[in-house]
Amino acid sequence: MKTPFISRRHALLAAAALPFAPAITGMAHAGAEMKGAATPQFNRFKLGGFEVTALLAGTRTVEKPTEIFGLNVDPADFTAVSEAAFLPTDKAQFFFTPTVVNTGSELVLFDTGLNAAGITAALAAAGYTRDQIDTVVLTHMHGDHIGGLMTETTPTFANARYVTGAVEHNHWMGAANEGFDKNVRPLNDKISFVDDGGAVSGGITAVAAAGHTPGHMGYMLESDGAQLMLIADLANHYVWSLAHPDWEVRFDMDKAAAAATRRKVLGMLAADRVPFIGYHMPFPALGYVETRGDGFQYVPASYQLMMG
Ligand SMILES: [Zn+2]
Repeated sequence: MKTPFISRRHALLAAAALPFAPAITGMAHAGAEMKGAATPQFNRFKLGGFEVTALLAGTRTVEKPTEIFGLNVDPADFTAVSEAAFLPTDKAQFFFTPTVVNTGSELVLFDTGLNAAGITAALAAAGYTRDQIDTVVLTHMHGDHIGGLMTETTPTFANARYVTGAVEHNHWMGAANEGFDKNVRPLNDKISFVDDGGAVSGGITAVAAAGHTPGHMGYMLESDGAQLMLIADLANHYVWSLAHPDWEVRFDMDKAAAAATRRKVLGMLAADRVPFIGYHMPFPALGYVETRGDGFQYVPASYQLMMG
């Protein structure tokens, strides 16, 4: 067909639409662009009168998970358990999930991620500014939890008070640690301390969960009869550390204590059917746990907490 007044560009476009036309690269209508992998940046739900927002402050792939999560495990067992759970054994994905809780009277941030830029961006994605944070709670003092406290030499959260475990703070005060000296020590006069069972504020209670670090703590949230536990680094993999709580984890400072604490706290969550958020679990890091064999089974939350 001969078309009068057609430009060369239009002719090319027309040709590209024909089944046997030669391929032409860079044509806008040839298909949508690739956008790259993406995940949601936050997950918010109601817990009684609280609003709980899990923030994805970072994620990364790590190599050789056997050398992190299965120190005392026969490699064949590690492979068998992983394959049964549809997991590769050559690498694993880590997530970093601080949680912000609005109690109605206070905005409380639990842990601060790897750095100030990361936590600030994660808060912004969820609709919060760092100046709005009233209280920062630190579950323990590893770098991926305290990294966002300071922006260079200025506190990231200008209006915040800080709460952490007394045992944890004492330990790091006595141990040489770059991250502690940079991020926590400058805030010392704004920190108040809790022990097991101590209250951060109404409905937020510390739960001793030592082993990962000497004073590692989880926090139980409770509002209008609804409960949720922030377990922090009590168990860092949803299969390897839940199904096999005794598998030794490289980052647990006291491996026997960490295993005993996993059994105790996960047992309590299973018995009481309380949901939890795990700091390094696959985002949104929210689920339940049930007993299974000699260990536990992770049950990811679906819509249970969307109906509050
Ligand atoms: Zn951690």
